[in-house]
Amino acid sequence: MKKFINDPADVERQVVDGYVKAYPSLIAKAADDIVVRAHAKRNKVALVSGGGMGHEPAHLGFVGSGMLDAAVGGAVFTSPAVDRVAAGIGAVAPGNKGVLLIIKNYTGDAVNFKMAEQAAREDGFNVDHVIVDDDVAVQDSTFTVGRRGVAGTVFVHKCAGAAAETGVDLPEVKRVAEKVIANVRTMGVAIEPCTVPAAGKPGFELADDEMEMGVGIHGEPGVRRAAMEPVDAMVDEMLEKILGDIDYSGHEVAVMVNSSGATPPYELAIVNNRVHDLLTSHGIPVWRTYMGPYMTSLEMRGFSISILRLDDELKELLAAPAQAPAWVEGSVVREATDAAPAAAKVREQKVEVTDGGVADEATGLVCRVLSEVADVLSTHKDELTELDMPIGDSDHGINMARGFEAVREQLPVLEKSGVPAALRTAGMTVVSKVGGSSGPLYGTILRKLGITAKKMGGLTLDSFTVGLNAGFKGIQELAGAKEGDKTMLDAMAPAIRSLERSVEEHQDIAEALDAAAAAAAEGAEATVPLIARKGRASYLGERSVSHKDPGAASFAYCMAAIAQAYKN
Ligand code: ADP
Ligand code: MG
Repeated sequence: MKKFINDPADVERQVVDGYVKAYPSLIAKAADDIVVRAHAKRNKVALVSGGGMGHEPAHLGFVGSGMLDAAVGGAVFTSPAVDRVAAGIGAVAPGNKGVLLIIKNYTGDAVNFKMAEQAAREDGFNVDHVIVDDDVAVQDSTFTVGRRGVAGTVFVHKCAGAAAETGVDLPEVKRVAEKVIANVRTMGVAIEPCTVPAAGKPGFELADDEMEMGVGIHGEPGVRRAAMEPVDAMVDEMLEKILGDIDYSGHEVAVMVNSSGATPPYELAIVNNRVHDLLTSHGIPVWRTYMGPYMTSLEMRGFSISILRLDDELKELLAAPAQAPAWVEGSVVREATDAAPAAAKVREQKVEVTDGGVADEATGLVCRVLSEVADVLSTHKDELTELDMPIGDSDHGINMARGFEAVREQLPVLEKSGVPAALRTAGMTVVSKVGGSSGPLYGTILRKLGITAKKMGGLTLDSFTVGLNAGFKGIQELAGAKEGDKTMLDAMAPAIRSLERSVEEHQDIAEALDAAAAAAAEGAEATVPLIARKGRASYLGERSVSHKDPGAASFAYCMAAIAQAYKN
């Protein structure tokens, strides 16, 4: 596992320093491993949390007004030692009404934090603690250490922090913390483990088609290993467990969809989409949603779902102002009185129909060509995508096949549209369905062919050649490339030259198209030694050499398809 670190033995200090340098107005260092508020507020109950590091932004990211007063961090996934926790308590206890320790339920954390609490009491400080155990994946049993404390802990920081900010005394802040703990449940899943820097190896291993359900936050395995499923099925299983654990009916809830580190917002949103749909189907209204990295496990590819059962008190505490580096306020549900959101209108594509919609022979040929192009692109989809891997972004074959599949679906209508309209409409479809750079460029070819056919009164070898040339110029105007820049133009140019010769020599159409297809294929092959000057491949400079241009390759396939369709 590669990481952006220096000496694995010195990671934690640099993490703390980096955070403090990023948020100097919010947090400050009290020691290498202890982070406190930059502007301490006194005469309140101080909240101290922490544990092994590796869960960033927890816990140092939640130090700030309305949340924690101090976070004590140990080595990655290792509880800080008693003296470190005691130092953290000592940093915030003086001048305050007392200290509440928020401990996640792990033996190491519980022992070290509780011993530090005892020591602080002996020093005359008013200290108490709560233990968070929100993870429903683990059975709550008197024979085990009980459930683990996971992402739900952040809700404890927030609500107890808001209560403490109002100046109430220690038992009252503790009551609030315990109320959150009683009402929050969490479950996690992972599809790739994480690696503790000092260990250098992942905590567990998963095959490509496996997931770890009920995973913890320390790179420890979960409760069940199973075959990968679509994420909706994972969410269903997790929510069933959560909703079966306490009775949420009749309550609004706060939802936290938490990334374990490497799960991108793109996927978290898919998770959240399902969570909301399921809660709605259970008649449980979502009051606010918190989506993002709150309690991570280094770079683990996983996520957890936390559901907090709310009442008016908890809603008020959650909504109270807080300023901490990583606290992102959840968004309030829309009120019926809010203005309706603007709906974007996509321009309807118009299909022009000629002559009362009768199919003619020339339009039939155009449609056969389009259908053959769709076939050929779907056959070579993977190959074109693979060409786009080393010098692009691995989507060319997928883009082209998708676009021409959409054209194929329109054929029954296009057949009755006349040649110019059929080509223009197919061009518009390619523009909107292929996307990327090749969409508008291929769309330009089709539209110019359509316009030229109309101007020249029909489709002949001559008008096809003129139209293709107009397409070439149109691409140049749009995207600024010239022949030799390693683009689709390098396949187009020789094909057009070959067609122009054939027109001059009054060559048979089938032969002319075969020759043009051969010229395009040669042109595509000749892009291999070129340095790309346009498109994504140009970012690679010299590294683009020795690869065939995907767009040139797809154009050659299109020319071959045209020649083939004409013969059929
Ligand atoms: P994207 O590059 O947006 O991912 P595709 O992968 O579908 O789009 O298409 C890439 C192809 O588009 C390239 O191989 C090249 O032939 C063509 N292309 C990119 N930029 C230009 C340009 N400026 N002029 C002509 N063709 C271009
Ligand atoms: Mg691409």
